[in-house]
Amino acid sequence: MSLFPPTREEALARIALVRPAEYARTRNALNGAVTQLSPYITHGFVSLPEMLEGVRSQHTVNSQDKFLFELGWREYYRHVWQHRGDGIFESLHEGVLPDAAYSNEIPFDILHACTGVAAIDMAVSTLYTTGYLHNHARMWLASYMVHLRKVHWRVGADWLYGHLLDGDLASNHLSWQWVAGTGSNKPYLFNAENVARFAPEAWHSSGSVIDTTYEVLDRMARRALPAKGQAQTLSNSIEIPALMSSPSTSLNIRTPNSNVAKGRDVWLVHPWSLGELPADLPKDSLVIGIFVSDFHRNWPWDEKRWLFVQSRMAELTSECWYGDRLSIELALQEAKQVGGVSEAHIAAWLPSSGMYRSQPALFPNVERRCDSFSKWWQLVSK
Ligand SMILES: Cc1cc2nc3c(=O)[nH]c(=O)nc-3n(C[C@H](O)[C@H](O)[C@H](O)COP(=O)(O)OP(=O)(O)OC[C@H]3O[C@@H](n4cnc5c(N)ncnc54)[C@H](O)[C@@H]3O)c2cc1C
Repeated sequence: MSLFPPTREEALARIALVRPAEYARTRNALNGAVTQLSPYITHGFVSLPEMLEGVRSQHTVNSQDKFLFELGWREYYRHVWQHRGDGIFESLHEGVLPDAAYSNEIPFDILHACTGVAAIDMAVSTLYTTGYLHNHARMWLASYMVHLRKVHWRVGADWLYGHLLDGDLASNHLSWQWVAGTGSNKPYLFNAENVARFAPEAWHSSGSVIDTTYEVLDRMARRALPAKGQAQTLSNSIEIPALMSSPSTSLNIRTPNSNVAKGRDVWLVHPWSLGELPADLPKDSLVIGIFVSDFHRNWPWDEKRWLFVQSRMAELTSECWYGDRLSIELALQEAKQVGGVSEAHIAAWLPSSGMYRSQPALFPNVERRCDSFSKWWQLVSK
């Protein structure tokens, strides 16, 4: 069974299990008290305010709490995306080396989890099997790829995005930039000792390239030469799950159809708004689930994620469409009115005739762009 059942009940059950004090104490460990709520948050099963309210109903959470601080990182990355737009897909500033020093290809042994560095092979195989990685494992994987193997952060970020159930363009791409040093003022480096401190034994990487000091790692990061990988013929290599730019046809998906929507009050749901339907929808509203191909062509997902999203969408409505922006817009032209929730991944592709509510946020909107999390945090956590 999947580690992430695609239901709202599961998300609420996980919220009820959050223990902020234990979270603060243990969150850096792979078996620490992290919430594993990210797939549900990314896809809007629950909103951040709803999540915090659920936790606060049982625990005290103040503005200095680590748990709140981490939720802050998610909203901060949204803030950066809102201000920089597609600029987040390019290096925000020069990193350790010029962009051209990094490769646009991910080496075979990383993709197939046979680098011989246990922490990296465990991270890749866990990612492919579950669609989830602990934050520390994401940092190790990104750091190894960028600083030791000289893979350009953007290439790594695109690859990871496709395999995560919680793939979020802002959190993912900006976290890669933070690790790479193009979105922060120094590269993030880690060694075997750090892995041994925070991960179970199967991840320990003594005797590998990362079993060294931070001084050596820093020199390696600043040198254009990639660290050696493994030959391509290792027998323990694993398959890469295929990425798909359209939904799985095993769940009822149709092409946009104007006959269905004609004269109706339509409420759109999409992959980033899979929470409860609003209580104030007009009676007899028609709920339509949409997948906009313009987005998915650029950002394919693996099958686990499609099934996660489609299963929840099927709970909300039996009318699910897959089509390009124009065909969805045309099919909704004669609807009485169209509404839904806007979200940054899909905002540009929603039918222009609709009236959209914004996603509830945890912190106040900051008009002026903040280039550092701490400045932003000072403003929002007052
Ligand atoms: C290279 C890299 C790629 C990442 N890609 C993504 C991504 O695509 N989607 C994504 O949601 N997060 C991403 N993160 C951030 C973080 O790793 C995940 O949010 C977290 O691991 C999710 O697990 P959790 O729900 O158990 O987190 P918890 O530790 O339980 O945190 C609770 C929630 O707070 C938020 N959060 C926690 N830490 C961070 C953080 N550092 N940055 C942003 N939000 C955070 C998430 O919404 C998370 O669900 C990435 C981090 C790195 C280093």
